[in-house]
Formats: sequence, structure tokens, C-alpha cells
Amino acid sequence: MKVLINVIGKPVHEVDLPVVHFSYTSRIKRSTQVFLIFFLSGILSILIPVLHFVLVPGLILTAFVMAYLKFKEVAVIDLSGGLMCPECQSNIDEKKISFKKEEVRARLHCFGCGQGLEVLLEQSPS
Ligand SMILES: [Zn+2]
Repeated sequence: MKVLINVIGKPVHEVDLPVVHFSYTSRIKRSTQVFLIFFLSGILSILIPVLHFVLVPGLILTAFVMAYLKFKEVAVIDLSGGLMCPECQSNIDEKKISFKKEEVRARLHCFGCGQGLEVLLEQSPS
């Protein structure tokens, strides 16, 4: 899918990046996986002496928060293929950009030249 990379204050560059859209079912599946990882980690941390007073409530609470945040993700752009900064041609060190419903832009930062970048989806994920 075509994605627009906008260097703030400069013309827009068009880049072809893989955008993965999640269906309602896969969003539930992904959030359930995250919930189970944190919840089971919380249950297992009962076995750690003294630290379990912090770890058990912390990880179980984190399970609910992370599952909710994961459920809200409707699209992800995988940048592991390498996104180059249009200004300095250095590699952007982000791995993934996630988009929530009705969200079409994400901000990145190039550590090579310090330039702010905007990634614009051409169509809104729903
Ligand atoms: Zn740069």
C-alpha cells in the first residue's frame, strides 16, 4: 500500500510499505494473546518471594491495559524492511507503527538529521 512520508515543512514523498489491517476477529485474538501473556506472568510471579507483592497486581493490571491498547490497533506498518529518511537517507530505527481507528497519521523522528517525519495512510483504517 502506498504510504506518504511527509518531512515537516517539505513536499510529500510517496513510499510503498506493507500495511497490515486487522479484522475484528484478529484484533480480539491479538488482545487475548497479550492479555494471557501478562496475566499468566502475573500468576507465575506468585512464586517469587517478596517481589510478588508488587508483581502480581502490577502484571494483572498491565494485562487489562495492554489488551485494551492492543484491541484498539486496527493497522500496523512494518518498518523492518527499512524506511529511509527522505532528508538524510539514514535508516529510521522504528520497527512498527500502529494506527488506531480513524487515525491516518503517525509522527516519527529521524535520529540521523533530527528531522520530524509524518507517516500518512492514504485511506483511514476502520
Ligand atoms: Zn534524516
